[in-house]
Amino acid sequence: MSDLRDLYQEVIFDHNRHPRNFGPFPEANRHADGFNPLCGDRLTLHLRVEGGVIREARFEGAGCAISTASASLMTEALKGKTEAEAAVLFEGFHHMVMGEPVTVDLGKLSVLAGVSEFPARVKCASLAWHTLNAALKNESNPVSTE
Ligand code: ZN
Repeated sequence: MSDLRDLYQEVIFDHNRHPRNFGPFPEANRHADGFNPLCGDRLTLHLRVEGGVIREARFEGAGCAISTASASLMTEALKGKTEAEAAVLFEGFHHMVMGEPVTVDLGKLSVLAGVSEFPARVKCASLAWHTLNAALKNESNPVSTE
């Protein structure tokens, strides 16, 4: 188990140091801003959605290692998913970080399972997903985890 933990931490560190899909995305047609006041994490999510399918996801912003890694992993997981599939992933991810049973295959997102042991970090890990929700609904008001 500790080896697995080390591996998970390694993936999180890697995604924090080298966030995937990070930067502006002028071709995006959905945007949302998210803020986690508890930790100070801020991010802007850009999506290109066509025919109900998320073709591309990018993010910008600054936050702690967990929030950055989570956003990076999320953007990777979202590409090619339908909005309905993204909602299923969000639900599964939410169960995972709350320490509840997960019934969907979260793939690489599972590296964040350890967050459930640190309640203060759950909002860091969830911020990107709440922001995704707002982007898919095209809400113009920034989302806050509080
Ligand atoms: Zn944070």
